Amino acid sequence: MHNYVTYSLSLSDDNSEQYYSRIRIFTDEVLAKANESLLKPVVDFTDFLKKYNLEEIRSNDEYILELISFGLLWNNYGRTALNINSAPFLTLSRMAEWRKRHLKLKSSIDLMRGLLISLFLFPSKTSNEVKIYPDIRDIDKLCLFLEATGEFKEQALRFIRWRAYWETITKEEWTEGCKSVFDFVDWFADRSTEMLGEFTSKVDEFIINSARRYKWREDRVQCGRKRDEYHLNMVGAEIMNRAFRDDFLKTESKAVLVPGCMRSNIELCKAVKMHEGLKCIGCDKNCSVNNLRKIGKDYNYEVYIIPHASDLSLWAPKPGKPVRGVIAIACVTNLVEGGWELKRYDACAQCVLLDYSGCKKHWHKNGVPTNINLHEFHRILNGKPAKKQVNEFANN
Ligand code: SF4
Repeated sequence: MHNYVTYSLSLSDDNSEQYYSRIRIFTDEVLAKANESLLKPVVDFTDFLKKYNLEEIRSNDEYILELISFGLLWNNYGRTALNINSAPFLTLSRMAEWRKRHLKLKSSIDLMRGLLISLFLFPSKTSNEVKIYPDIRDIDKLCLFLEATGEFKEQALRFIRWRAYWETITKEEWTEGCKSVFDFVDWFADRSTEMLGEFTSKVDEFIINSARRYKWREDRVQCGRKRDEYHLNMVGAEIMNRAFRDDFLKTESKAVLVPGCMRSNIELCKAVKMHEGLKCIGCDKNCSVNNLRKIGKDYNYEVYIIPHASDLSLWAPKPGKPVRGVIAIACVTNLVEGGWELKRYDACAQCVLLDYSGCKKHWHKNGVPTNINLHEFHRILNGKPAKKQVNEFANN
């Protein structure tokens, strides 16, 4: 097993197949339990959405994921959000959008955002008051905070809709609903550690040891994600793949979006700049991106290398053109946010997790090329395991 930074899907057998089997079993367990205790708020919420025609109704599992995310993010960030007296929330949120659209300005924007995030979003003095359940106004503060971090914009957009529904219910219903959600989240934190803790065993240590290093950095929230957030993203990725599967399978052509850290050598990479992202030209036969590109010739997909936090609206279906399916590859901390964003643009998407994170910019001191499980990639692509010749290229 290699020396990973925070998480690794490959355990001692150097193969992440065990992870994929475990995550499917655990996701079934989470959804079965959530269907016992969270179905009522989900059904009431979807009735509200239908009544006011607020959105096309999605699957119950997606709303369950939103509700668990709300409880877990409140537990992890609610107190911080309530302790902020004033902050340039709007400016920070806008800057998070600008950095996606103006890549040339990204490093300057990141520098400024890093300073503002630390100065305003993480006040050094916090009150000791711990609220067990939030009230409606607290949700506004949480959403402002989440959006300003740049890491949770999609979740915040969804919580604002839930908040509109919660405003219509009685105090007793609100307290009862909170109890169901926060009891569930407590169960999830314990049970997910039992089921997935082996794969995230270095997260806590990393957060403690790197707190000073990240203090003024734009990625302090992304790299400081708690262990239960990793677990939620793992389950979330599985729930999303199931929910979006049918639409994805109907698409004729596909695009595979890979992060730059999968390249064998970022400095020597000869990929060519295109409108959609960088396109691999196959300069290194040992490069994992090149391997995916070669497989794509047989399976009718294109590979694009895109930077972290790219503008994903590019992948929205275009009127009059065939809908293209998207497989997004990303590390655990980014997957769910990207998945919700693609969903907001009506993209037909699936995702595959990087087996570990290793980019120099965010995670690893020297940077290590990252990789995926090719068996899982093939199951996502066409429902079948990888062929023999493909296995030969796999590092896992
Ligand atoms: S093989 Fe492709 S992605 Fe890999 S380094 Fe060369 S051009 Fe870049």
